[in-house]
Amino acid sequence: MDRTFVMIKPDGVRRGLTGSILNRFEQKGFRLAAIKLMHIDRSLAERHYAELKEKPFFGELVDYLTSGEVCAMILEGEHAVANARSVIGKTNPVEAVPGTIRGDFAMDVASNVVHGSDSPESAEREIGLFFDEQAALYLFPTPQVAASDNV
Ligand code: GDP
Ligand code: MG
Repeated sequence: MDRTFVMIKPDGVRRGLTGSILNRFEQKGFRLAAIKLMHIDRSLAERHYAELKEKPFFGELVDYLTSGEVCAMILEGEHAVANARSVIGKTNPVEAVPGTIRGDFAMDVASNVVHGSDSPESAEREIGLFFDEQAALYLFPTPQVAASDNV
């Protein structure tokens, strides 16, 4: 099963949108495999967005991501990366169509409420950044009770 990394950004958590946003992914058909509320430091924010470090808005982006708690999650499902990106909508909420998360919950590119990985390789890299080996504990279904235990 494919998986992707999704993060509700500080404005989404602060505005109380965590449940509404998670609901969009669950309704779509994703399985929530891991979830964690955390306050990330500048180092993690900079590593997460390393590919954007030359952009003029990079400092503002790091300020934004470290301005409050984020909700990091691993979502599983068919074509997980592409399906999550389509649920999320375009980067700039001005262009994101209604029915997408950014189209329905955001107004400005500087506060667009949610992140989703842009490729399977990015997803694995980002999962590695936000969830350490301990996450393996959350990634598998609860073990079934052995048949012999039922008799
Ligand atoms: P995404 O994959 O759709 O999130 O878009 P990108 O990877 O291109 O950009 C990462 C994030 O940087 C976006 O989600 C925004 O939070 C932020 N960002 C992108 N463009 C701008 C901008 O022009 N100004 C500011 N302040 N933030 C931006
Ligand atoms: Mg991106």
